[in-house]
Amino acid sequence: MPEFSFTSHPTEVIQWALETYPDLTMPSAFNINGVVLIDLAYKAGYRGEVIFVDTGYHFHETLQTRDALQARYPELKFVTLDAGLSNEDTQYQTDPDGCCAVRKVAPLQNYLAEKAPSALLNGRSRDQADTRKDIPFVEEGKRTKINPLAYWDRCTLEAYVNAHDLPINPLYWDGFLSIGCWPCTRAVRPGEDARAGRWAGKGKTECGLWVGENTL
Ligand code: SF4
Repeated sequence: MPEFSFTSHPTEVIQWALETYPDLTMPSAFNINGVVLIDLAYKAGYRGEVIFVDTGYHFHETLQTRDALQARYPELKFVTLDAGLSNEDTQYQTDPDGCCAVRKVAPLQNYLAEKAPSALLNGRSRDQADTRKDIPFVEEGKRTKINPLAYWDRCTLEAYVNAHDLPINPLYWDGFLSIGCWPCTRAVRPGEDARAGRWAGKGKTECGLWVGENTL
């Protein structure tokens, strides 16, 4: 692996990942980090899948963002997975861990088990939350996770979005700095980190894709 430093541009990391892991794939929830990553990866030559898990509880604006990205990058293959469940239950109120496990983690884990990619490209960054403050560019584990945006902060992401006129989720500009399902997402308040609006008051900070016993 090359000697990356915190000043390494995400494109350097992506180019290295494309050469090292030709079967690389990319899960995305189309947050600002994800949209920037899609654009950077596309420009670096990525032509693989962009995998989205539709839990049944996404904001309409999130689905519109997916559709706008699909139209903008027709050479990428956008894949939408779901758990095949009704969205009329309220498990998210009483058991959010269980709800995420069946609606979000399981569909993606099942898909990845079948595809068996050796590495995942994803958009997490250190400044999103305390729980992510040590994310490196490359994380080893069950699958290698490549985090090209690890050192980019929100200002840098917004500048990139504006410079390239990227179609990010319009809710972002209303303070929804990290956007998941509508029952579990609120706008961030001044001084809070970007993920403070996720599962607020529920004692939960991650869906289980990136940390926990079923981590990707
Ligand atoms: S974020 Fe909320 S609604 Fe979405 S899968 Fe997790 S618990 Fe369920």
